[in-house]
Amino acid sequence: MVKICCIGAGYVGGPTMAVIALKCPAVEVVVVDISVARITAWNSEQLPIYEPGLDDVVKQCRGRNLFFSTDIEKHIARADIIFVSVNTPTKTRGLGAGKAADLTYWENAARMIADVAKADKIVVEKSTVPVKTAEAIEKILIHNSRGVNFQILSNPEFLAEGTAIKDLFNPDRVLIGGRETPEGKKAVQALKQVYANWVPEDRIITTNLWSAELSKLAANAFLAQRISSVNAISALCEATGADVAEVAYAIGKDTRVGPRFLSASVGFGGSCFQKDILNLVYICECHGLPEVANYWKDVIKINDYQKSRFVNRVVSSMFNTVSEKKIAVLGFAFKKDTGDTRETPAIDVCKGLLGDKAKVCIYDPQVTEEQIQRDLALNKFDWDHPVHLQPMSATEVKPVAVTRDAYEATKGAHGVCILTEWDEFKKLDYVRIYESMQKPAFMFDGRNVVDPQKMREIGFIVYSIGKPLDS
Ligand code: NAD
Repeated sequence: MVKICCIGAGYVGGPTMAVIALKCPAVEVVVVDISVARITAWNSEQLPIYEPGLDDVVKQCRGRNLFFSTDIEKHIARADIIFVSVNTPTKTRGLGAGKAADLTYWENAARMIADVAKADKIVVEKSTVPVKTAEAIEKILIHNSRGVNFQILSNPEFLAEGTAIKDLFNPDRVLIGGRETPEGKKAVQALKQVYANWVPEDRIITTNLWSAELSKLAANAFLAQRISSVNAISALCEATGADVAEVAYAIGKDTRVGPRFLSASVGFGGSCFQKDILNLVYICECHGLPEVANYWKDVIKINDYQKSRFVNRVVSSMFNTVSEKKIAVLGFAFKKDTGDTRETPAIDVCKGLLGDKAKVCIYDPQVTEEQIQRDLALNKFDWDHPVHLQPMSATEVKPVAVTRDAYEATKGAHGVCILTEWDEFKKLDYVRIYESMQKPAFMFDGRNVVDPQKMREIGFIVYSIGKPLDS
């Protein structure tokens, strides 16, 4: 029986390994983590992450050929293939702070593999890492190996949170990069065999290591760029009376462009897009390519602009001040169908409103109050002052209220901001909401969830991203 160990039981490690276990009953999969709380949750009825379909997959194979454990050394020692799916956040201090990837977690994992391994291993980069990381990992492993042979593969993950199980069941492609030596090719084949249990052969792409590593960074940069492109056009739509939905539809009908990922919004979020673009920027700078670095930097600048534009619109619409006004925020997660709030645009929007002394009241179906308060107590990255994520002092932490219900959040509010496109926000009783609010009642739809015309008929003053404005 092939034995797989995955280091890192997070948003990627957990679902990815659950699907491998489900699709490969003859493979034993153990997911390990340094976080006891996370492993305990994976072994319970209340999984640590919310992802549609995940509970069902885990239930089918947990205890059969899928296991979660904190006994990292034991399972590394037993495994033939070790996936490393640890976090690779942006560095917060030192060389490259604010841009470069922090590979501390990766390095720790690699040193532990080298320490523990007594037989040959295939080590798979599942985390998103800077191009050439495999070279560094090889050095750590080989210099500490005591005669064990390691083959490093790059197998970046392309799942999207909210649709992770669907994406893993039916991936557009699986990418495997390896060394072009006989041992490297053998390792690629071994990993290919795992995926071949359910992924059609023509969707399994093999490349050299550096192409695989760079493809993941470039893919995220392209996706984020597409959002920034449509968001940039949304600002022009508002200035001219064009409707961004109509413009995006017309653009997307061109088969060279395609219709997906063209929805204007308050901005992209999530743990990956900004982090990976910053990383790309840093790599370009290190390779003496400042023009290319600036090109990708602008994708983030437009994203920041979109968030501040939204806040400015809220404040200017509400007679230039939101001070002491209750503003309901519907949605805090960075997208629907996830409880993940990493880099969610809601953080910046709420902070902008709090900065103008609004009383912010937040409802999200999957995000806890503790998570929201913690996110709002952290400062944000700033290009001009690139030391970030410093906690605010206790006196600076601004009060927000969190409710477990959209009606409670909006009751008595002067304005509503929709910041996540949860399906349930489409179905709310907006007449009831309007009636419970202060008048005039403002609706700021940062995800184009509601029909602005219907909202106007109810009585709201409406702002929808990229749509013609109220006169
Ligand atoms: P995460 O923070 O949810 O999970 C990482 C886990 O690794 C944590 O539980 C942490 O405790 C654990 N860990 C860290 N060091 C460890 C060690 N030495 N031993 C054991 N466990 C350790 O992160 P994530 O969202 O799963 O992302 C993981 C990687 O995958 C990142 O590089 C990310 O960029 C990439 N990625 C993420 C997504 C996504 O949608 N979240 C998609 C594709 C790729």
